[in-house]
Amino acid sequence: MQDLRLSVAEILGRPGEYRDIAVRRPLPGVGMALARLGEQGIEGDLRIESVIEGILVTGRVQGDAVMQCARCLNEFRQAVTLRVCELFAGPGHEASEDADVYQVEGVEIDLEPMVRDAVTLALPLNPLCRKDCKGLCGTCGTDLNQGSCDCQEDDFDPRWAALSDLRQRLENQEL
Ligand SMILES: [Zn+2]
Ligand SMILES: [Zn+2]
Repeated sequence: MQDLRLSVAEILGRPGEYRDIAVRRPLPGVGMALARLGEQGIEGDLRIESVIEGILVTGRVQGDAVMQCARCLNEFRQAVTLRVCELFAGPGHEASEDADVYQVEGVEIDLEPMVRDAVTLALPLNPLCRKDCKGLCGTCGTDLNQGSCDCQEDDFDPRWAALSDLRQRLENQEL
């Protein structure tokens, strides 16, 4: 498959008929600040099924994502697997203009926008290299996963000082 356009002429308007297809394709530019799809793109197994309302696409898509840890900023790779279940509205079942629904275009469906949307949603906004990543020291920038730094212990954030002062005054009912 050169792109992710696909003719559904054989099954359109014949509810119950389906085809199973395999997709494998690079999808450059899918991602956000800290997570993007790797250059291999996606691969997946999809069922393209004719339903009363149009064409239903279901199945599994997976790919390798390149992420940057939101805490320690190290780059890492992680597999992303997602399930898709999307309706492409057929002739006579077009949604109103403002609705965010995919459409059968003539006798074709274009899977690419759907796959792009689904993968983007599956990517984490704040990826972590591991759940307990300790991140970087806010003062000296040491990666605290590699070891501790000297400024760690005796650092006292002045904002907390103001808060505890406020709390003390509240407790003493000075306000
Ligand atoms: Zn990390
Ligand atoms: Zn430090």
